[in-house]
Amino acid sequence: MPVSPDLAEDLATAVSSLYEQAELALIEKVTRALAEGLDSPLWAELKLAALGNLRAAVDEVLAALQADASGAIGQAVADAYERGQQAAVVELGALATGTAAAAAEALPTAAAVDRLASALVGETEATHSRILRSTLDVYRRVIAEATSAPLLGATTRRQTAQRALARFAVRGITGFVDNSGRAWNLTSYVEMATRSALGRAAVQAHTDRLGAAGIELVIVSDAPEECPRCKPWEGKILRRDGASGAGTVEVEHATEDERMVSVRVAGSLPEARSKGLMHPNCRHNVSIYLPGLTKPAGPKKARSRATYEQSQKQRYLERQVRAWKRKAAAGMDDAARRSANAKVRAYQGRIRELTAATGLPRKSHREQLTRSR
Ligand SMILES: [Zn+2]
Repeated sequence: MPVSPDLAEDLATAVSSLYEQAELALIEKVTRALAEGLDSPLWAELKLAALGNLRAAVDEVLAALQADASGAIGQAVADAYERGQQAAVVELGALATGTAAAAAEALPTAAAVDRLASALVGETEATHSRILRSTLDVYRRVIAEATSAPLLGATTRRQTAQRALARFAVRGITGFVDNSGRAWNLTSYVEMATRSALGRAAVQAHTDRLGAAGIELVIVSDAPEECPRCKPWEGKILRRDGASGAGTVEVEHATEDERMVSVRVAGSLPEARSKGLMHPNCRHNVSIYLPGLTKPAGPKKARSRATYEQSQKQRYLERQVRAWKRKAAAGMDDAARRSANAKVRAYQGRIRELTAATGLPRKSHREQLTRSR
């Protein structure tokens, strides 16, 4: 079975949902703390004096998150690695060569899994200090805005606080910047980092297993809706490992002893991956290339699958669902919560229409922000 990052990306939900729950819990804690005593003339003083209570509550959420997330990450990485290995075992098993036997042998994987998992734990835990800082900042900013005009009455103060909270809720906890400089919301950032780490783990496991079976060449699929970054690699044969750069290699025929064949290679798999192939959401896959046997598959016919734009539209609608769920969590009263929840349902309706019209799979977990999971 060929490998592609999407073999394991769905496992990221187990991790990102923990962050969603924490984000939602923090928005609710800030909102509840600010709403309490809002009509008192001493509100601002009382709130600033209670900053320590909020900090303790945030620390508690983060401590629980740290424990849960490191366990979930360890499990998800181990599962992703296992899927990648199984994909290779299936692919090797289908070959009428001696490589199948080699593939069946167990490889020691604990070290590889530990290394990949601890890198991801480090990456996600690095967000925690920023979560604390940005939650306390929002709390202080709402107090400052709600008391900025000296003559604001209690009603106006309530409206101002609600408006400031709603702005915060739309964005959620923010300020996470990836390598390319793009800014993310907390949950989206963790999901992106986790999906890409799990995709890498599956691809790596597949490659490791092929290496153990003595497979030296792989071929990249020709995807119906290619991503621009991967176009140069489409249908190309790559060295599984080793030197970069295109060239012609003389290799032994896969089944005929002592017969050599020339194969044109476009580079190495690590080289192609470093240039973007097998990026998150990549539509391409990589499979075994057997010299003299594997025929390039030719361009795949576009499946009755939605276009790239339609899948991006679905991602957009999912982000709206999440944003309005955060807004509901930041509602100071029933009316605010009700109208935010109505928006949630409206966007969910649009996703249902889109998935029904295009056949795109509905990814309910991407819309969810509940604490029930
Ligand atoms: Zn791609």
